[in-house]
Amino acid sequence: MVYRLISHFLSRRLALCLLCQAPAGNAAGICTSCAAELPQLGCTCPRCARPLPVTATCPQCLRHPPAFDAAHCAWHYAYPVAQLVRRLKDHGDMAAAHSLTLLAAERLRPDVPPDILVPVPLHWRRYWQRGFNQAQVIAARLGHHWQLPVDTGALRRLRSGPSQQQLNRSQRLRNLEGCFAAHRRVEGLRIGLVDDVMTTGATLEAAARSLRQAGALSICTFAMARTP
Ligand SMILES: [Zn+2]
Ligand SMILES: [Zn+2]
Repeated sequence: MVYRLISHFLSRRLALCLLCQAPAGNAAGICTSCAAELPQLGCTCPRCARPLPVTATCPQCLRHPPAFDAAHCAWHYAYPVAQLVRRLKDHGDMAAAHSLTLLAAERLRPDVPPDILVPVPLHWRRYWQRGFNQAQVIAARLGHHWQLPVDTGALRRLRSGPSQQQLNRSQRLRNLEGCFAAHRRVEGLRIGLVDDVMTTGATLEAAARSLRQAGALSICTFAMARTP
């Protein structure tokens, strides 16, 4: 027991920083100086997490309020956060997932915790190709840090749709219509909707709409990173 504790302690102390390979010296696996240089978001729109010069609701959210009540993103989708997200997504790198989610859990810890965390689902075909859902990995770890239950069956993806990458926000939204189905058990609950990256917000919007239709009381979103 003592031996296991000592070796656990040593392995944590001796673990190398994922970014600079210096001894990380902490449980996050990213050293303090690298962690301090992660691309901070600064002021954002509280509804959609869009980076802004001041913290205020952005014109787009004033005109068309999103289906979610608040959006929280830990960092800009830029070096080295983007590389860590890709390591998780493309290579199933769980060390990257561990570091990102531990640091993000500290940054994004909600004042009023939701009742459950719900990861944005992948279509089964995509899930089958990749072998895992990165949003589910992130939600499980945030749930662990925040002591919140994770409901992976609350939301289903009915179709995968063509690639979204070349589309603008309204094209993406149209593309995503009817893409998600939420289970009735979300009725009356405060939902924390989890994804890896928030790009135009269209995916989270479509998922939030179906949670609303199923009677969710409130929805806030959590993502590791935000694209500008
Ligand atoms: Zn480092
Ligand atoms: Zn906004």
